[in-house]
Amino acid sequence: MMKKVALLGSTGSIGTQALEVIEKHGLKVTALAANRQADKLAAQAKKFHPECVCIYDETQAGKLKTLLSGEKIEILTGMDGLCQIASDKNADIVLNSVVGMVGLLPTLKAIEAGNDIALANKETLVAGGELVMKAAAEKGVKIYPVDSEHSAVFQSLQGNEMNKIRKMILTASGGPFFGKKKADLQHVTAKDALKHPNWNMGNKITIDSSTLMNKGLEFIEAKWLFDLTPEQIEIVVHRQSVLHSAVEFEDYAVIGQMGVPDMKIPIQYALLYPRRVACPTKHLSLTDYGTLTFEKPDYETFDCLTAAIDAIREGGLRPAVVNGANEEAVGHFLRDEIKFLQIGELVREAMQAVRGGQIHSYEDILEADTQARAFVREKIAVLG
Ligand code: MG
Repeated sequence: MMKKVALLGSTGSIGTQALEVIEKHGLKVTALAANRQADKLAAQAKKFHPECVCIYDETQAGKLKTLLSGEKIEILTGMDGLCQIASDKNADIVLNSVVGMVGLLPTLKAIEAGNDIALANKETLVAGGELVMKAAAEKGVKIYPVDSEHSAVFQSLQGNEMNKIRKMILTASGGPFFGKKKADLQHVTAKDALKHPNWNMGNKITIDSSTLMNKGLEFIEAKWLFDLTPEQIEIVVHRQSVLHSAVEFEDYAVIGQMGVPDMKIPIQYALLYPRRVACPTKHLSLTDYGTLTFEKPDYETFDCLTAAIDAIREGGLRPAVVNGANEEAVGHFLRDEIKFLQIGELVREAMQAVRGGQIHSYEDILEADTQARAFVREKIAVLG
């Protein structure tokens, strides 16, 4: 039976690649949601005929209505719209590829409605992992990881559900500044940081890859998805991005997943699980690569990575603070308002300045996020 998919973040990098997979396998799209690209969303809606669409940025709603006039498609807006789509009873699976903290509430709403989730939004588990995993377990909702590393672990665990993970090997490309020291990174611009060697991704995640914050966020995600302690996760820099991550079991057998670096493979696995059928991507030729390398990450230069790991060791609201501070700082960096190395500095300072504590509710997480962002904005204003 063909699954029906509700897609949040349809105009982004993951969203557009997901639609390629959906088209290839003739899956039904029940709903599409995008941030602010009305033209692209309208074109997708005309092609995939969802029952409803949502544009998060309400200033774009009028444009979208005009573009879709004459179509029998309901138009929603804002966070209410995202949440309505996430809890859509007509969908079998919600693919959440929204960027940033905005993705957390729709994930919680999807779980509440009993919808399975294909999760590409990192912040959902970074800021709200404790809450999300508990709610998903209570509702019996399945969370299929879309991130390539977590998908690799999920794939490696198939048939091994009874066996304990001894260690997870979380691979990292190292980003565009691998081998550089802080002194080399003083004058890096957003343009330099947006050139990723292996993966084709959106702006926020590409900057996060250049600071290695992306790996820090994935470290936290992995902890929640696979119920690991921070000590069980080892980050290994693997420049070729061919081994997407691996699991070591009690007998020291290591099982990993390899493939070309193309997000369509993990997206398709999450959407079609447990089926494996032809994917619109390339065959992996190991002899074309010849050599695969593995190295330790440079924790001193890339202090965002260290900050994220420290945050999950402390737990509670601390990861939400790190995530919020990072999201805010990256926004400013993309507008050339701060220097590259300031991203890590601001994250570190926010960690010290903003209160942590236990998570009791979504509101606690939102408050920590808001405070972290406000701290970063004020700090930047003072620095002028
Ligand atoms: Mg990844």
